[in-house]
Amino acid sequence: MRAPTFLAALAAANLCAAAPAIAETFDLVIAHARVIDPESSLDAIRDIGVDGGRVAALSSGHLDGRTVLEARGLVAAPGFIDLHSHAYGAETAGYQAMDGVTTRLELEAGVFPVKVWYAAKAGRELINYGASVSHTAVRNFLQEEADGTPHRPRDPFASPDEVGTADHIHEAVPASVYARLTPMLDAGLAEGAIGIGSLTQYAPGITHQELLDVTRLAGQRHTCLFTHIRYGSLVEPGSTLEAVQENIANAAVSGACVHIVHINSMAMSSSPAMVALFHQARDHGVDISTEMYPWDASFDQVRSVIFDPGWEQRWGVRPEDLQSRSTGRRLTRAEFDALRAGKGDDGVLMHMNTEATLRATLQDPLVLVASDSVDIADDNSHPRSAGTFSRVLGHYVRETRAISLNEAIRKMSLMPAQRLEGFVPAMARKGRLKVGADADIVVFDPATVNAGADYLHAKAYSVGMRYVLVGGAPVVRDGRLVPGAHPGQPVYSKFKAP
Ligand SMILES: [Zn+2]
Repeated sequence: MRAPTFLAALAAANLCAAAPAIAETFDLVIAHARVIDPESSLDAIRDIGVDGGRVAALSSGHLDGRTVLEARGLVAAPGFIDLHSHAYGAETAGYQAMDGVTTRLELEAGVFPVKVWYAAKAGRELINYGASVSHTAVRNFLQEEADGTPHRPRDPFASPDEVGTADHIHEAVPASVYARLTPMLDAGLAEGAIGIGSLTQYAPGITHQELLDVTRLAGQRHTCLFTHIRYGSLVEPGSTLEAVQENIANAAVSGACVHIVHINSMAMSSSPAMVALFHQARDHGVDISTEMYPWDASFDQVRSVIFDPGWEQRWGVRPEDLQSRSTGRRLTRAEFDALRAGKGDDGVLMHMNTEATLRATLQDPLVLVASDSVDIADDNSHPRSAGTFSRVLGHYVRETRAISLNEAIRKMSLMPAQRLEGFVPAMARKGRLKVGADADIVVFDPATVNAGADYLHAKAYSVGMRYVLVGGAPVVRDGRLVPGAHPGQPVYSKFKAP
């Protein structure tokens, strides 16, 4: 920043500080909070006045409110925007709100039909919601049509893994219907979908041409492709590097924004190197971005295909990096072999990343935080669904000081908003805590905030969130969920036809 601009900003800040108390009475006031706004870099004690679902005032003086939430000693920040949530259910929304999430978006897998998905959620959601249109579901729809499979009602809430039958996922889209693929995706964008989602690795039949054509549509519409890339392996052929190169090339020739999801679980120990590639591509005008979740392990079954021979080289792990879900103990090679050949519970946590890798990836300014959450049925799930955002604040800010509090808030609010705001109008009002912004606000205790969930207890609330507001309405109050609240609003792209 140049000096005159800085001085002007300083003068404005002083004016603000000297301003007399505002006579108005607000709907709601958050009093005495340490307000951190990642856009303006404000980090100061303020009263926050909320009216009509928006932030109406930020004052160093006293504000009157019909409802006053006392926040002395607490941090107030923009609500967290999760670009990667497969969780649809109301119960999991409660866990997410307790983790500070005020907007959850299903962008990786996407949904289809888009209109049905939004309609089913209208008026009943705890937090804001939105989705991309699913490339993988649309291609499967066309495959079934080409087969003569009678049209069936599509469940837009189907598991993201259900991208087609075993045959279809390995097959290309037949030539007889291929020309309809991108128009159908375009129709989803016109229904308000936030870009295009592609579970590319889950449908190996997606050709390079097909992915290029889909990315071209994203480019024509100035929107993003959100993709679980084709490969996640340290070994060629079929390496993460090849999949990253494909997406960089597609973004370069199409002008599309391409967002590569959970780089930590696709690239493992090569995550920092892949992020370095993204920087180099961006230096040459390629609009590519990425995200991570702050956990070193994934959850798998020893008898699944991912443990077919060569798994140690592909993932860069050894049997000792596997932790039994039933005993909590790390495996020996003999125990792994016995599980692989045997029956019974073969669930394991695969610790595929070291703390050093996660730390280096999180420290990169290009990497934002997203959860990859799913509906939490029981403890036997991944803790990222309930605890991603609070874990960043507790473990990576307070306990290990990997990143600053302000940087963590930026990665969880402003960065996701900026990723989308070019084609999602509401995002210009989210991810900021300033006058005129949507009153999606988290208020937490920086001394205690942390995930409550861990690898053996996935179904646990995060701790330390005192208040969470969605459009000015409390969904968490005094650290507890507000029963019956449903202030969540749909988030659409600007392409939505009236
Ligand atoms: Zn994924």
